Amino acid sequence: MTIRMGVIGTGAIGADHARRIAQTLTGGQIVAVTDVNLDQARKVVDSLNLNATVYENGHELIKADNIDAILVTSWGPTHEEFVLAAIAAGKYVFCEKPLATTAEGCMRIVEAEIAAGKRMVQVGFMRPYDSGYRLLKQAIDEGSIGQPLMVHAAHRNPTVPEAYVTPMAIVDTLIHELDVFRWLLNDDYVSAQVLYPRATRHTHSKLKDPQIVLLETARGIRIDVEIFVNCRYGYDIQCSVVGEEGIANLPEPQSLLVRKDARLATTILTDWKQRFIAAYDVELQDFLDGVQSGTLRGASSWDGYAAAVAADACVKAQESQQIEAITMPARPAFYG
Ligand code: NAP
Repeated sequence: MTIRMGVIGTGAIGADHARRIAQTLTGGQIVAVTDVNLDQARKVVDSLNLNATVYENGHELIKADNIDAILVTSWGPTHEEFVLAAIAAGKYVFCEKPLATTAEGCMRIVEAEIAAGKRMVQVGFMRPYDSGYRLLKQAIDEGSIGQPLMVHAAHRNPTVPEAYVTPMAIVDTLIHELDVFRWLLNDDYVSAQVLYPRATRHTHSKLKDPQIVLLETARGIRIDVEIFVNCRYGYDIQCSVVGEEGIANLPEPQSLLVRKDARLATTILTDWKQRFIAAYDVELQDFLDGVQSGTLRGASSWDGYAAAVAADACVKAQESQQIEAITMPARPAFYG
């Protein structure tokens, strides 16, 4: 059976996901699209040569009888209403991060999904689908570096748009780390603190850059993450897990090593889309396969909620400059 997909929001990632479903992955077909900018939606239909209906808005699209699953790739503040509407319509939904802009909004989705009686939502946290992170997790789970004690990580972007301000370092950038460390370490956070080193001259008055986020997990693992979004030199994701018996590092993306003119050189990526391009493919294929089999396996609404709770505490810590507690309710049995 081909999964008939409707896309809400055909901006950067919506168009990219539509392309991968139409051209790269198997088992899915884009039959409907919408965007607040309908011309943009039509442009994506034309450029990808899709046989798809352009709907006036997301709610009309969700209601359509000929759609099996929904891809929510619109602006973050619209995610909650579309995910809730998809659940109410009995349709599987893949929602890009954030699942909702507040932890309370994520909890409303968790409750709606539990009331529906089966997992219907997958959140677009793609790092657990990255081959490098999978190797790292395998090393931790097999015990090859012993019990993990510390994690040193960095999330660096060459530049960000002028509209990117201090809290976005958490809610747009760190959110991926907040998800992936829970998955890597199989642990939850108990506290967060944010430090501001000397600011780069490449930032502006509304963005503190760089930042250092310190997290503590329930098992006492300490994590430090540098967020540096005007680092200039590239898009660079680093992660090093220090265990009792050794250290495991996230592999560098594959890149040619060139010996020339008395130099040994390699390339550093500059675009996040390239860094995780394979992970996005595997992630969305897993969603299509999950819809096909009726069992979703990727990041759940609960993972979306947990990341939002931690993000809220980090934003609070940015403002207070204190250590902030992170309190999570027990994971419902529904989420395994
Ligand atoms: P974008 O380029 O601005 O695209 C969002 C699109 O949604 C825009 O075309 C926007 O139209 C449209 N939109 C806004 N409100 C809508 C509504 N009510 N109904 C239908 N369409 C609506 O942003 P993006 O970079 O693709 O990001 C989209 C989402 O994906 C964000 O939540 C972002 O955090 C997430 N994302 C995730 C990753 C990842 O690594 N997993 C990477 C990138 C983005 P207008 O421009 O006219 O407002």
